[in-house]
Amino acid sequence: MYDPERYEKKERTGFHLFAEGVSKEEGRRYLSGLFRFIFSVFAVILVAGAVLRFLILGPVSCTSLSSNEIAPPVIDGELALRYAQENYDLGPKVFRTEGAKRSAEWIVEQAQKIPGFEKAGRVRIPPSAHGEYNVEIIFPGKEPNFVIVGAHHDTKRLFSVPDFAGANDGASGVGALLAMAAAITEYTQKELPPCTIRLVFFDGEEALYQYTETDGLVGSRAYVDMMKQDYSKLRCRAMILLDMIGDKDLHIELAGNSTPALADVVLAEAAAAGYADKFSRGETDMLDDHYPFLQAGKKAVDLIDFNYGPENRYWHTGADTMDKISAESIKTAADVALRVVWRLAGNGFADL
Ligand SMILES: [Zn+2]
Repeated sequence: MYDPERYEKKERTGFHLFAEGVSKEEGRRYLSGLFRFIFSVFAVILVAGAVLRFLILGPVSCTSLSSNEIAPPVIDGELALRYAQENYDLGPKVFRTEGAKRSAEWIVEQAQKIPGFEKAGRVRIPPSAHGEYNVEIIFPGKEPNFVIVGAHHDTKRLFSVPDFAGANDGASGVGALLAMAAAITEYTQKELPPCTIRLVFFDGEEALYQYTETDGLVGSRAYVDMMKQDYSKLRCRAMILLDMIGDKDLHIELAGNSTPALADVVLAEAAAAGYADKFSRGETDMLDDHYPFLQAGKKAVDLIDFNYGPENRYWHTGADTMDKISAESIKTAADVALRVVWRLAGNGFADL
């Protein structure tokens, strides 16, 4: 509104900033207001940045060197085999069938039954994107950066063997992860894990027909998508996949497309645990659940024994039964996986 009284008293100022007819007092008020505004904008940006950083990366943590010296938990092989047996006994767990859904619900129940689990971690079936029933068990650790240990729980659809339940190709990995959940839960009674750990049971690893962009690895792809959407991908430091690790005649070959630095740590920890003869670096690239993680720029390794029976004859056949797998083999792979997690987190992921 125009107020002639006011502009009567106008004084010219030397500031270009001031428009004609603006008094010195008004100019000063304007300037200090402007500075206050700029300051507030900066303050808001700083605070928002700090909040975002906290939300995305979590609290600043100092990795203590002493965490290097704390031994990782070890697996109860017999327990792992019992879990594998029970999972196997559920029958076929073909992607997008009741069997896979039942298997996922069974995994959730087993986790919840571990004594002390409700205080140590949490378990859930993440919202399904493409009909998959993944399961994730999360153990918060001393830092929010996490390592995933994964295995698939679905089984191959075999028209020739309708009741195919996958002892090694499915149940062995499930047994390994559930036994790890039990061991980590017990460990947390004394101490938090050195980093957050996610045990992820993937559905839809097996192709219903053959591997394409949309057939096979459905659960792991969906899981990676979820990590992108909730920004947790930024905190995912490594992914360790266990597949077909129950073979009594165990020899794990790390998939050729595993991240070299991570593969080095696996071999070093296998040797340190006395399992050097059971591990080697393979040359064959694997299209397995670690692959979507690699595609997303994450460090991943695939621990797989893709030589199951003479000429791999037990693989995807009716011969993949419980008598072919052992507690010792599952323990071997799972112990090494836990050692790798502890080693990586213990030195602030400096190996990667
Ligand atoms: Zn398979």
